Amino acid sequence: ETLIDQIAAGEVVERPASVVKELVENALDAGARRIEIVTAGGGKSLIRITDDGCGIPLAELPLAVRRHCTSKMEGGLQGIETLGFRGEALPSIGSVARLSLRSRARGADGAHEILVHGGRQDGPRPAALSGGTAIEVRDLFHAVPARLKFLKSDRAESAAITEVVRRIAIAFPGVRFELTGEDRSPLVLPAVEEAQALERVSAIVGDSFADNAFALDAGREGVFLAGHAGLPSFHRGTAQHQYVYVNGRPVRDRLILSAIRGAYADVMPRDRHPVCVLFLQVDPRDVDVNVHPAKADVRFRDPGLVRGLVVGAIRAELARLSL
Ligand code: ADP
Ligand code: MG
Repeated sequence: ETLIDQIAAGEVVERPASVVKELVENALDAGARRIEIVTAGGGKSLIRITDDGCGIPLAELPLAVRRHCTSKMEGGLQGIETLGFRGEALPSIGSVARLSLRSRARGADGAHEILVHGGRQDGPRPAALSGGTAIEVRDLFHAVPARLKFLKSDRAESAAITEVVRRIAIAFPGVRFELTGEDRSPLVLPAVEEAQALERVSAIVGDSFADNAFALDAGREGVFLAGHAGLPSFHRGTAQHQYVYVNGRPVRDRLILSAIRGAYADVMPRDRHPVCVLFLQVDPRDVDVNVHPAKADVRFRDPGLVRGLVVGAIRAELARLSL
């Protein structure tokens, strides 16, 4: 099974940032309100994620690190509401790193820890933790040198981790995020009320965003768009600060990114990129967010509808502001 896990790992775990993404999503699925992330060596030597979520009962600890054991399938594949559901992340990580999973379920007497190294489980045994879950991933890809070679510098991997955390944090303003480590300057995002979600965005894309953005709120045939888009004067040299979410899940979707470009085409030079945060709400039956295990791609049943909604909503606001 280790080989299968290692192959699956190639799909799910491309680089340290993908480990962080999977583990943070698990913490959010567990209802965490505080998530702390510590990295070292660009996440290659260490990724540690601590959350105050519901924890994992002792009996489920060995299952959590086993392939295709997920506690999130109840609704079937259609209409998945949680961020994870494949039951692949933890076993995949355990097959290409030293994984330690420490958890204390709510109401449990104490915490327990299970270790996975090269796909082999050790434990569970009693451990110390006041609540929630603490996951440590050390020496990522140490047993797969071919993959190690494909990773970028510590600095670049560390930056990719920051980007993943920013992307997720924008969608969860009510959760406190703390990202620290010897390989980075700290990113601390205190929890804010839902109504102050723009504060969270500004903390990430730049303080002046709030004063240089317009709100979006539109819907068409069951697809809804909310969020904020920057004034044409508030642009950037790259499209990095375009954050797009489908049903709360961060995506990097070509269709939507191209719709954004199209919406601003008349008011912004081609080499400039608007800053925006778009939340699309789509009936889960009208979108497939699981084209790839890394879950960044989406496929809409009616791409034209989605594109029209995004372009139309942004253009309408730009026109209203006489831009
Ligand atoms: P998936 O998220 O697709 O279910 P994972 O391999 O990411 O699969 O996680 C396996 C299982 O371990 C989850 O279904 C969940 O029950 C449990 N789990 C993982 N991380 C956490 C966490 N931080 N808090 C609570 N439970 C967790
Ligand atoms: Mg998961």
